[in-house]
Amino acid sequence: MKRLDVAVIGGSIAGLTTACLLARSGHAVTVFERSAAALTGRGAGIVTHPGLRAVLARCGAPAGAGDLGVTVEGRRVLDRDGTVIAERSLPQVLASWGRLYGLLLDAVPPDSVRYGAALAAVESDGARVVAFFEDGRRISADLLVGADGQFSTVRSRFLSGVAPRYAGYVAWRAVVDAAALAPATREAIGGHFAFCLPPGEQILGYPVPGRADEAAGLCFNAVWYRPTEEAALAALLTDTGGVRHALSIPPGRIKAAVLEAMRADAARILAPPFAEVMLRAEQPFLQAILDIETPTMIPDRGVALIGDAAFVARPHVGMGATKAMEDAAALADALDAAGADVDAALTAFEARRRAYGAAVVARGRDLGAYLQAQQRGAAERAAAERFRSPEAVMAGTAVPPDIPRA
Ligand SMILES: Cc1cc2nc3c(=O)[nH]c(=O)nc-3n(C[C@H](O)[C@H](O)[C@H](O)COP(=O)(O)OP(=O)(O)OC[C@H]3O[C@@H](n4cnc5c(N)ncnc54)[C@H](O)[C@@H]3O)c2cc1C
Repeated sequence: MKRLDVAVIGGSIAGLTTACLLARSGHAVTVFERSAAALTGRGAGIVTHPGLRAVLARCGAPAGAGDLGVTVEGRRVLDRDGTVIAERSLPQVLASWGRLYGLLLDAVPPDSVRYGAALAAVESDGARVVAFFEDGRRISADLLVGADGQFSTVRSRFLSGVAPRYAGYVAWRAVVDAAALAPATREAIGGHFAFCLPPGEQILGYPVPGRADEAAGLCFNAVWYRPTEEAALAALLTDTGGVRHALSIPPGRIKAAVLEAMRADAARILAPPFAEVMLRAEQPFLQAILDIETPTMIPDRGVALIGDAAFVARPHVGMGATKAMEDAAALADALDAAGADVDAALTAFEARRRAYGAAVVARGRDLGAYLQAQQRGAAERAAAERFRSPEAVMAGTAVPPDIPRA
């Protein structure tokens, strides 16, 4: 089989998985990552699915439940008073982004990641793909993989009409040291995938491995979805220095008044265990919820889009990392099957993954419908209530969607 020169743009979950798998198939792979050094996460949670663990094992990384994180046995829903109003058995492995990233980084071939390499432009001359970097570097490759996330430079160069669509609600995310929580809180939610459903809102949480730079121990990760008019986003996403962030604001930069209002609401409307998590979080962060959908994952000859660069589904579906890694695996399979004929491989890759990505985005939209519908009329709000019952939320959130695969 021909050994291809492959350039991967973006060194996060999708990019590192691609590098591992294509290198194992014998290709010469280089990852170009904009950050100056290896990425550091905020330790927030990642839901894992069997597909993620299967791809991780193919990368040669440890992929046991204990390697990745914490196993919970089931789900529960708390009412405003903290009473458990519904429960369901559903064993699941919860990881942190940092843990998964670290396993992949250890598995990529040494020296295959170039840091401080921000892609500025890319073009395909039909035979080779040429990439231009902000520092003036220029490289060419047989195949360029855009694994550069939701604001993908690769995608924007070829598909300028594709833009993130604000879903009408935001997520507050918090990670706290589980040992710091009251015993009653740990008992109520610390060992479960837990939910609380205030009118028109949703908070969920689950245990995750502690941060790598801390002594071993669990953290608790919470995500609180709150309907927010687009016009109100500006106030939330303008930081302590007056800078307006587009769609998310980093921890430590959120204005004191915004944090105070969030904490007051947490104490007022959340079940006490969740309120404690939000009140104890030292560095909560805030992101607008988005949908991103590309019409094609092969925007030009020799160019593929994978992971969040291609499709971003709302977090309810819990598929971001799994989908990114399965995209990379599908690309590796297609190249193996086509004997490294790039055109044939990319056609097969797109046939296998594009409809799937679009279906995952649609599934996320369904699961979040009742949060989004708060901005609309009474009839739509009533219709969306069917996604809001404790049973529907427990059955649908972060389980692999039942989507046929090509
Ligand atoms: C530091 C970090 C922490 C994260 N933490 C969490 C978390 O706690 N929970 C969660 O659910 N999700 C988290 N995510 C997002 C999660 O990784 C993705 O939603 C999902 O796994 C798909 O990954 P991806 O590799 O497609 O995209 P991303 O993870 O977004 O990675 C895209 C990568 O491309 C790089 N990049 C972007 N533009 C360029 C360019 N022009 N040139 C070169 N490189 C470029 C970025 O720096 C980034 O490393 C995090 C992402 C990052 C980067």
